Parts: sequence; structure tokens; C-alpha cells
Amino acid sequence: MAFEGLSEKLQNAFKNLRGKGQISEADLRITMREIRLALLDADVNFTVVRDFVKKVQNQAKGEKVLEGLNPGQQIVKIVDDELTAMMGGSATELTKAPKIPTVIMMVGLQGAGKTTTVGKLAKRLKQDEHARPLLIAADVYRPAAIDQLEQVGKQIDVPVFSEGTDVDPVQIVQDGLAQARENHNDYVFIDTAGRLQIDEKLMHELEEIKTVSHPNDILLVVDAMTGQNAVETAQGFNEDLNLTGVILTKLDGDTRGGAALSIKAVTGKPILFTGQGEKMTDLDVFHPDRMASRILG
Ligand code: GDP
Repeated sequence: MAFEGLSEKLQNAFKNLRGKGQISEADLRITMREIRLALLDADVNFTVVRDFVKKVQNQAKGEKVLEGLNPGQQIVKIVDDELTAMMGGSATELTKAPKIPTVIMMVGLQGAGKTTTVGKLAKRLKQDEHARPLLIAADVYRPAAIDQLEQVGKQIDVPVFSEGTDVDPVQIVQDGLAQARENHNDYVFIDTAGRLQIDEKLMHELEEIKTVSHPNDILLVVDAMTGQNAVETAQGFNEDLNLTGVILTKLDGDTRGGAALSIKAVTGKPILFTGQGEKMTDLDVFHPDRMASRILG
């Protein structure tokens, strides 16, 4: 499970405050040092950790007295609130277009879980809102990518728009959107090409797709297990495309949690969902407050 190590270390950090009627500067310093190390061990971005510690320290020194809580509990509460804020505060929902279809452009590096996540999201909308999504296969560089999206579509019983690998992806997106309008699909997912790393040609293509499709959301899919690389990837994509949010996959295999804790603070863009496994149902809404409570145990 994600955050196991961090949970344990944070709980240890609070031990020396437990039951104390008053907390000295020295006590606080020791606890903050342990919290700082715990976050760094969890692979949280260095600058994010520094800012976090500063904020907690300032508030703890400000001694705002909260009714019913002893000093130790008050520090835990401050840490809880700051962890929640660091991950974005409250949950972020998908943007809905005033007029159908809502267009969701999905981007990400190869292997991050983009195609799988398109399926998971479409399935969720179908179930929750009786939505009628259309999936557009815009990755023309790997024939296997189109096959895979078609298989996902079959699995969740959602149509896939594809024109093979010989048509320009920008054209495919335009044709797919025309079909969605004709068929009154209420959601369109554009499954764009992924590469092993960010390159200029890909970014240029994604910018063009963005221009013609006017997406309501541009969601980056990143692999939680890659830690700070996921954060860098998010920064890179965000600079070029101005993302609206992030989906963090493979949280089920991430023992540290650094990406989940850093992405919002570094990029300013919230995590909307997390992938918790390979099945089409393994997608959770990301609730920063619940995640913070889970971390603090
Ligand atoms: P794409 O290249 O970005 O489209 O990635 P895929 O959708 O093909 O996913 C790559 C691999 O990651 C596949 O084996 C997926 O089953 C797997 N995968 C995707 N999301 C998750 C997740 O949340 N948890 C786990 N454990 N595996 C995932």
C-alpha cells in the first residue's frame, strides 16, 4: 500500500509530543526534523518539503489554541491540514461542457496507463451518469495502441472511433468529433500518442489536437511508481499544454507516495483520480483530505 513507510515515520515523529502539556521549541524542532526526513524518504519534492515544514512550524509557533485538543494533537491537526492543502485541498471534478460533447484529451508517456485509464473513466461515466462516450484512437504510431483501445471499448461496451494509422491524428480527431456530434455522444475521450519521453514533435502534435478539439479537460496520466520522474513529466506537459489535471496510475504498486504528495504543489494542477489496479473498476476519485487522514493513521 502507498504511504505505509511515511505513515509509520510520521506517527513516530509525533510520539515525543504525546501527552505533553506544553511543547518546547526543542521538542518541536525534533519533531519537525523527523517529519522532514519522513517526507524526503517518501520521495516528496525537496522544495515542497521545505515549504511544508516552514508552514507547519510557523503555525505551531503561532500557538493558535484549538479547543479540546492538547498541544501534541494540535500539531497533528496542523500537519493534517497542510498535507491536505499540499495535495490540493478538496477533490476536483471533471469539467462539463455547457453543450455536449464534453471533450477530454488524455495525454501521457507510453506505458503510464493512458489507454487503460480512458476505459476506466468512460466506464465510470457510463455507470454514474448513463453517459454515452466515444473514444477516439489518435495514436497512429503504434498499431497495437489502436487495437488496445478497441479492446478496451469492447470490454466496457463503448464505441471507438478509428481511421487506422495512415491518417493524420489531427484529422482523426476532427472526424471523430464530427461523428460524436452527429451521434449525440455526451463525452469524447481523445487517446493521444505516448512516447518514451517528452519530445518536441509529440508536443507539437498535442498542441494542434488541443487547438482543433477545444478540450474541456486535458488530463495527464502518470505512473505513481516513477516518483519524482512523474512530477517532472507533469511539469513538462503542463508547460506546453496547460493541463487541467492529472491522473495518477499504479498507486497500488507505489510504496512511497512522493508523486501523489508533490504534483499539485509543484505544478499547481490537481490530481483528479488514482488508478488502483489493472481492472476497469480500479479507479478512485482523489480526495486530498481522506488521503492525508490515511497517511496520519
Ligand atoms: P499507455 O501506454 O499509457 O496507454 O498504458 P496502458 O494503458 O497500455 O497501460 C500500461 C500497463 O499498465 C498495462 O499493463 C495496464 O494494465 C497497467 N496499468 C494501468 N493502470 C494501472 C493501475 O492503476 N495499476 C496497475 N497495477 N496497473 C495499471
